[in-house]
Formats: sequence, C-alpha cells, structure tokens
Amino acid sequence: MSLNAHQQEKLKIFIKDIHKKATSFMGYPISTDFNYQQLKELINFPLNNLGDPFAKSTWQVDSREFECEVIEFFAKLLRAPEKDWWGYVTNGSTEANLYALYLARELYPNGICYFSKETHYSVAKNLHLLNMRHIMIRCDDKGVIDYDDLRETLKVNRDVPAIIFANSGTTMTEAKDDIKKIRTILDEFSISKSYIHSDAALCGAINPFLTPRPSFDFEDGADSVSLSGHKFIGSPIPCGVVVARKSNVDRIARSIAYIGCLDTTITGSRNGFTPMVLWYAINSLGLEGLAKRVLHSLEVAKYTEIQLQNIGIKAWRNPNAITVVLPAVPEEIKQKYQLATANGMTHIICMPHMNFSDIDAFTSALKLDMNDL
Ligand SMILES: *Cc1c(COP(=O)(O)O)cnc(C)c1O
Repeated sequence: MSLNAHQQEKLKIFIKDIHKKATSFMGYPISTDFNYQQLKELINFPLNNLGDPFAKSTWQVDSREFECEVIEFFAKLLRAPEKDWWGYVTNGSTEANLYALYLARELYPNGICYFSKETHYSVAKNLHLLNMRHIMIRCDDKGVIDYDDLRETLKVNRDVPAIIFANSGTTMTEAKDDIKKIRTILDEFSISKSYIHSDAALCGAINPFLTPRPSFDFEDGADSVSLSGHKFIGSPIPCGVVVARKSNVDRIARSIAYIGCLDTTITGSRNGFTPMVLWYAINSLGLEGLAKRVLHSLEVAKYTEIQLQNIGIKAWRNPNAITVVLPAVPEEIKQKYQLATANGMTHIICMPHMNFSDIDAFTSALKLDMNDL
C-alpha cells in the first residue's frame, strides 16, 4: 500500500490543516487534551467487538474484556444498581440514545415518548426510526424542561406508559433536567409503566464530580444513561457509552447462532479501538484526574463569563455549566472559533484543553471587532 507523490502531498496538507483547525475551536464540546500514543500499535489489527460485550463469542480479535471494564467503571460512576446493569461502547450518544429508546419501546410498545424542545436534533430522527409516538415539551428560558408543561401533558395521558427522554446538559445551554423531579411527577399520577432515559452526552463525565451533584443518574431514578466518549473525556474516534438496567435488557435479548453470541447491540460489527481509548483514559486519569479536569473547565467557564461581561457582552451560564452562552458574534469570529450558532445565540464550551489565555485572545478579538462597528 503506497501513495503517489500527488496523494502524499494532499495528505500532508490535510494533516497540517487539521493541526490548525483542532487547536482553534471553542464552540463544540470536544476535548483535545489527550495522548493515546501507547495504543498506536492497535491500529494494525481489525479489532471488532462483535455482539454483546459480556457474552461469549467465537470471534476473538476484540477488546471486549476492556470494554466490560469501561462499562463497569461508568455503571459505578452513574450509580447503577449493583449487579443490575448492562451496557456497551457505542459510536456516540446518538447510537446510545437510539439503544435506550429501542429498549424503552420494546418494554412499552404503546408508550409515548416525552422530550423537551431543547433535546438534541438526533432524537427526533431516532423516534422516527423507531416509529414511536412522541410529544414535545416546552423549556424555560435557560433550556430546562418545563415541569408544569410536562405535568399537564402527562396528566391527560396518564393511562399510557410514559417514556421520558431527559437531558442532563442540553446541546446549546447545558441545561439539566432534574430526574428526581420528573420521577415525582410520574408518581403523582401513579404512572407505574414508565421509563426515564438520561441523555448526558457531555455531562455524564462531569456531573459525578459536581457539588451539588445534579440529579441525573440511576439513583435519581433513571433507567438508562448515555454519554459521549469524544466529548468530555476525549477520543480520536467518536464513541459513546450506554448503561441500562440489566433486568430490562434481558427481557428483550435475542441469541444469534452465527456469531455464537447475543445480538443485543444496535450494530453488529462494533469498534474495538474506542473501548481501548476509554479504558486508557479512565485508568490513566483515574477519578482524581477526571475531577481535576472538571474543576479546570469550571474555572475557565467562570472566567469566560466574567471577561465577556466586562466588555459589555450579555454572557451567562447555567449553574456549574462549562458552557457560556452569549449573543451571536460577527461572522468572522464565528468562523475563526467555529462557534455553533442558533436562534441569535452562540456558546463557548470550556473544554479541558482550553486555558485563560485562549479566552483572553477571544475577548480581545471580539472587542476589536465591536469597536470596528
Ligand atoms: C452531542 C450530543 C448528542 C449526540 O452525541 P454524538 O456522540 O455526537 O452522537 C446527543 N445529545 C446531546 C445532549 C449532545 O450534546
């Protein structure tokens, strides 16, 4: 396998360009402060975690043993009931959410899925794929689900199983729906056939280290939790984690003879490299290292909010959020810092690789631009 001179050059330019692009963005929840050089040998093998990570399989060029350790780590972190958890490493939160909704639908085929207006755009697609009945719930001005609207909507549908798709960290404002509060509402109407999924794509790896701890995990009443590995933890390849109650998963499992394994996952072939990435990250950082990164991000976020306010920008953030929300910025700045913008609003997400000096450079650029107007 070799490239001609032209192709070599094209690749070289691309690598140089990515270097630049990967060090300047501020608008996406992607960490870049990782080094997985110790895993590089593994890209020479067709690692494929075919099938259920916890079941026996005929295929052996896999990293499922490591994947199980990763799932165990997150099951504990997300306070899943002892011996009643299951999960796998997905392609990202979209797949993790799809799995959770699939599980909920199999448990309650006639259920209605309730989700807030600020829910990630991929969820509407997932609901469409699964052909699930759904109702969108309003949000408050910070992006949190409107509990009154949820209560009113559940009240008129109290005879139908309720599947709640909750957010712990919305994409735009990092707003967190309170799972305990949602459980209380379900209990108010004695809706016993219910399922709560917690989409914690960014915050699943942040929330456990916050005080007060946001109400978002199994102990708070969730039946499944998802998070993205390439967001707060950081990965060269997108990945995610879904953890669900094993007793629920067992109710819908099917065994497939061809792979000698349970076909419990959404895709058949699965990435065997990303579980190694997550395994490496959680073991090398440890709980302490993970907590330290959270603390750093919070400090930078606080600094960002203040610095922006100091130059007259109406910046704000949700409690303990690493996302700073501000009015949309001029096009040039938006492009330079890759700032996602929607409805006249943009955000800076203070991921662990960002520093105070990055924020200083940003505010200076923004101030210059404002003076030009
Ligand atoms: C990013 C995100 C997703 C989608 O996750 P991917 O890993 O990109 O598939 C889903 N929900 C929320 C809240 C997100 O922030």
